[in-house]
Amino acid sequence: MENSIVIDSLQFEDQVLRSPEPVAVYFCSDNCLPCLTFDGIFEKVAASKKTVRFVRIFMPQNRQLAEQYGVKSTPTLLFFNEGKEVCLRLTGYISYIEFREAVDRLDARVCPPAERGAVHCDVLILGAGPAGLTAAIYTARGRLFTVVLDTGSIGGQVITTYQVANYPGTNGVIRGIDLADNMRKQALDFGTRIDDMQEIEEIRLDGPEKYVKTRENDYYAKAVIIATGSEPKKLPVDNEHEFRSRGIHYCASCDGPFYQDADLIVVGGGISAFEEAMFLTRFARKVTMLIRSDTPRAVRSYVEDAEKNPRIEIMYNTVIKKVLGETFVQGAVLENTRTGVTSEMKVDGIFVYIGSVPNTKLFSPSLHLSDYGFIITDENMATNIPGVFAAGDVREKAIRQISTAVGDGTVAGIMVERYINSLK
Ligand SMILES: Cc1cc2nc3c(=O)[nH]c(=O)nc-3n(C[C@H](O)[C@H](O)[C@H](O)COP(=O)(O)OP(=O)(O)OC[C@H]3O[C@@H](n4cnc5c(N)ncnc54)[C@H](O)[C@@H]3O)c2cc1C
Repeated sequence: MENSIVIDSLQFEDQVLRSPEPVAVYFCSDNCLPCLTFDGIFEKVAASKKTVRFVRIFMPQNRQLAEQYGVKSTPTLLFFNEGKEVCLRLTGYISYIEFREAVDRLDARVCPPAERGAVHCDVLILGAGPAGLTAAIYTARGRLFTVVLDTGSIGGQVITTYQVANYPGTNGVIRGIDLADNMRKQALDFGTRIDDMQEIEEIRLDGPEKYVKTRENDYYAKAVIIATGSEPKKLPVDNEHEFRSRGIHYCASCDGPFYQDADLIVVGGGISAFEEAMFLTRFARKVTMLIRSDTPRAVRSYVEDAEKNPRIEIMYNTVIKKVLGETFVQGAVLENTRTGVTSEMKVDGIFVYIGSVPNTKLFSPSLHLSDYGFIITDENMATNIPGVFAAGDVREKAIRQISTAVGDGTVAGIMVERYINSLK
C-alpha cells in the first residue's frame, strides 16, 4: 500500500500537526527538475518506512502555507513530530542517502541541533548563478578549495527561464533548468562545494581574511567573489504586494502553466518580456504586452515574432496604474502615457519584466556601488576592496545576459587565482 499522500493546506492541520506519527512533508512543484529527480527517492523511502507519514504539498497551489513556514523553493523537506517542526530541513538536490538518514533520525526522534561548523576555504563565491558557477569551475579546477554559497536554489535567474535561445554552444532550445544543472554538475565535478539555501547573517569583507556567517556555519576565505545577481523590479503600483503570487508574477515558467485559456498581461518591452510573452501563449488565450514607450528595447527579431503570433497584442505607450480584484487579480486600470487617458481591462494574470535590482544590500558600506546599487569593478572584476571580486548581473555594466555573466565569472575565477598566488 502507498504510504505517501498529496494534501493541501486545509488538510495540513489534521494530516501533519495532529498526526500521531512523525511526518515528512515534501513541498514540490511541477516543472522543477530537482523535484522530478527527488520524486522517486521520496516514494522509495516512503514505501520502506511505515512508521513515518509522508505527505506531498504542491507549493504553487498552497503558497500561503509555504510562506507561513518560510518555504521559498522546491523541493523542500520539512519534518514534524507532535505538531512541531523538528530536524534540519533539506532543500535543493537531495540524495537518497541524505533523505533516508533524515527519515531514520525523525523516526527515532533523534534530531540533534545542527552543530555550527567552521569552513576555511581559498575562495568563497556568493551566488550560484551562471557567474558564480563559472568562477567556481575555474577556481576549483585551479585546485583552490572553492565554496559557493547561495541564499536560494542553485542556478540563479536561469532556472526561472523556460527556454534559453541565445546561449552559444547549446541547441538554441535548451531549458533554463537544464543549462543551470549542467553548470552545477561541472562545478561539482571539479571539486566545488555548494551550500545552497543559506541564511546569511553577517559578512565582513575588509581585511585579509574574509568572513561570512550563516545560520549553520562560519566561513573564512582568502578571497571572495560576489555573484549575487539581481532580482526582478516589482510592478510599480500601490497594491502590488496584495496580489503578488495571486495574479502578479515574475516567472512565466514557474507560474504560467496555471493560466490555461486565460487573458494575461505582460509588462515590459525588453528581450525577457518578449520571450516570456511567447512562452505564455502556450497556455493563455491572449497575451497583451504593455510597453511604456513607443519603441520596445528588445531587438527587432523578438518583436517580429511577437507581432506574427495571433495570441499576442502589443500596446505601446501604456502602463498599469492600478490592479483590480478581490483576492486574485481580475483586471487592471491602464493609462496611456501620452494622453493620460485611462481604461479598464479584464485580465486573469500579470507577468512583469521591467528590469532588475542588484542583490547588494548585505555588503559592507566600504564596497563601491553605482547610484543604482550595482558593484563597480575594473575590467579584471576587482572591486575597491583587495581580495573582493564581483561578477555577473550584480556588477555595474551595460549588458546583463547569461553569456556576459559567464564571461565575468571566467575573468573573476582567473584573477582570484592570481590574487591568491600573489599572497604566497
Ligand atoms: C525571466 C528571465 C529570462 C531571461 N532570459 C535570458 C535568456 O534567454 N538569455 C540570457 O542570456 N539571459 C537571460 N536572462 C538574464 C540572465 O538570466 C542573467 O543575466 C544571468 O542569470 C545572470 O547571472 P548571475 O550569475 O550574474 O546572477 P543570477 O542568475 O541572478 O544568480 C545570482 C544568484 O545569487 C543568489 N544570491 C542572491 N543574494 C545572495 C546573497 N546575499 N548571498 C548569496 N547568494 C545570493 C541568488 O539566489 C542567485 O542564485 C533572463 C533573466 C530573466 C529574469
